[in-house]
Amino acid sequence: MSENSRALKLAEANQKLAHKRRNAKEKWGIVLDTSKCIDCKACTVACKMENYVPVGFYNYRIWVAEDTHYANYPTISRSFQPSQCQQCENPPCVHVCPTHASYKTADGVVMVDADKCILCKYCMTACPYDARYESHSTEAIDKCTFCYQRRDEGRDPACVETCPPKVRVFGDLNDPNSEVYRLLAENEYTVLKPGKGTKPKLKYIK
Ligand code: SF4
Ligand code: SF4
Ligand code: SF4
Repeated sequence: MSENSRALKLAEANQKLAHKRRNAKEKWGIVLDTSKCIDCKACTVACKMENYVPVGFYNYRIWVAEDTHYANYPTISRSFQPSQCQQCENPPCVHVCPTHASYKTADGVVMVDADKCILCKYCMTACPYDARYESHSTEAIDKCTFCYQRRDEGRDPACVETCPPKVRVFGDLNDPNSEVYRLLAENEYTVLKPGKGTKPKLKYIK
């Protein structure tokens, strides 16, 4: 089977799973401790492999940006900011989509139904985080789904599972017994571009 066919099959399977989970009560999110990130980019490779993201610099669901770079010999320090779709509670990409191809699942994951996407790219313009790309595999806009195909199996997204220093923790933000809930209760954290009013479900520990 070609990579394009695999990507299409995955997109279709995720639409079906979202329908099956239409009464789900979870609110999935990720808590990140970026101070642990060593810029190995294993997360970006795992994401591409898991989700059949086409090769090429401009095809990506997640990325790792250099956050700060300090050098005053002999002291050198660098820090990194891994990121992806913020799975906004108030997602402008969904609000602007004229065909409802972009939508939010019951458990709060923003997805794209490739069958309904007309590639108008309004959503790409509306997203303040540059989290979407045009997939030549699905001939639609594509983005992070928190590896939705793993939801029924209870597995973490590929980026979470593969990270050697465990920068990301994935879980249900509604569940007081979850690791993400505990981390947010015990740490100060921030979200990216809070002034945009998007209410991201990726939380960055300060
Ligand atoms: S796998 Fe983890 S440590 Fe490596 S770049 Fe990604 S977030 Fe950073
Ligand atoms: S980060 Fe961008 S693509 Fe993701 S939900 Fe928010 S607006 Fe939409
Ligand atoms: S490109 Fe597709 S997903 Fe984006 S706004 Fe247009 S129809 Fe909706």
